[in-house]
Amino acid sequence: MSQLGTKDNPLRVAIVGSGPSGFYATDALLKSDLSTEVDMYERLPVPYGLVRSGVAPDHPKLKQAMVVYAKIAESPQFSFFGNVTIGKDLSVDVLKNLYHAVIFTCGAESDRKLGITGEDLPGSHTATEFVGWYNGHPDYRDRSFDLSHEVAVIFGQGNVAADVSRILAKTRDELKHTDIAEHALDTLEQSEIKDIYVIGRRSPAQAKFTSKELKEFGELADSNAIIDPNELILNPESQIELEEKTNASSKKVYELFQGYAQQTPALNKKRNVHFTFLKSPIEMIGDNRIKQVKLEHNALSGEAFKQSAKGTGNFLEIDTGIVFRSIGYKGIPIPGVPFDEKRGVIPNSEGRVIENDIAVPGIYVAGWIKRGPSGIIGTNRADSVATVKSLIEDIAQFPEDEDKQGTNAAKSILDKAGVRYITFSDWTIIDKSEIERGLPKEKPREKYTKIQEMLNLLD
Ligand code: NAP
Repeated sequence: MSQLGTKDNPLRVAIVGSGPSGFYATDALLKSDLSTEVDMYERLPVPYGLVRSGVAPDHPKLKQAMVVYAKIAESPQFSFFGNVTIGKDLSVDVLKNLYHAVIFTCGAESDRKLGITGEDLPGSHTATEFVGWYNGHPDYRDRSFDLSHEVAVIFGQGNVAADVSRILAKTRDELKHTDIAEHALDTLEQSEIKDIYVIGRRSPAQAKFTSKELKEFGELADSNAIIDPNELILNPESQIELEEKTNASSKKVYELFQGYAQQTPALNKKRNVHFTFLKSPIEMIGDNRIKQVKLEHNALSGEAFKQSAKGTGNFLEIDTGIVFRSIGYKGIPIPGVPFDEKRGVIPNSEGRVIENDIAVPGIYVAGWIKRGPSGIIGTNRADSVATVKSLIEDIAQFPEDEDKQGTNAAKSILDKAGVRYITFSDWTIIDKSEIERGLPKEKPREKYTKIQEMLNLLD
């Protein structure tokens, strides 16, 4: 058999997950010196992962990444298999038989838990549910959010919390020309929410918002950004953190907080977004649904950049009808692949999946399921490139005599099993139809939010 990675014996790789890390890994493989064929598997009929169903609808520039990914998908060495769930429609063992290597780029699909009483009361939601709902993700399109209450509470101060609170704060006019799902636009328009509390467990110096995202709260049509100036008083360690040159982004965020604290809220605005710090949720209280959250005031302890929040024994309650927990995402296990339950990632060393301290041959990982849910879209490029580098370094050790049949064999297995897999050209039909549906409403697209609706377009 010819050498692996040559035209007669191309390196055949399966990628599981079609978000940014999947496309960057594909790109790195296709641009390598090796002759490579890449098959990408995605459980939804539509590609792009969080770029389609995580990025907020009012951030269209971030969605431009899809144009780059569509270009990558044009390669004749690339095939897309949408509507195929690995672990259900195809097992990991089957993938191992069909491909020289498999890269899991399936992201972090679940949420971290607060672990407090009442967390699962009706009215207490994860950010994932809400984000998926307003973005028209089929898993979440039927969720309902009761916005008939005056107070909403959001736990966490990262960019997802920023997205959730900003979408709650915006008017219909601010959202109607985005790709927000129609059901969400209609529900949000009826919202009675007046006060949105965005609660951090540490101080303003440790808030994880980026300044660009935080700045948007000062530009909302019908909502004030409110901060009690007393809450901006920092302990010495936090002051050291903000003076550190490498931490300029936190300083910028802090300065924005100072700006909000100095502003007089416009009384004619319908909503207020309150940023508040050094408070942890202790309990969610209610009978049939959430009525109140109990918080404990915190103090920071530890040296600069390693400060953690500790309860002070002082408590307060906020009456609320709806809560969003936005404290970070978590990966979910795939049958047949090692998993670190505590961190919610696939254990790995430089992208090589590890089991019992040994690298599992031919199995790799990239993106959030590799390193945890951190960083912006572009962070995944370097991460995926590093994984592909490890993979290419390893190919000298791949068994030489194994005949990996790749794309055609995968198609025939799926056909025999009656799985209606979606090709990239099928996706372009769905894509075109969504764009056309958006035109009369001056929206970039009106997404299909039911899998059957997507499949119906193709029959
Ligand atoms: P994140 O940035 O890690 O923020 C999580 C927040 O939850 C932090 O404020 C954290 O506080 C808090 N938290 C964690 N455990 C908690 C607990 N038990 N009780 C109370 N608070 C708790 O995560 P994320 O907002 O989910 O975002 C994930 C990644 O996606 C980030 O890198 C983010 O920048 C990125 N993203 C980017 C954009 C954008 O570019 N526009 C949009 C959305 C998301 P501590 O700091 O104290 O842990």
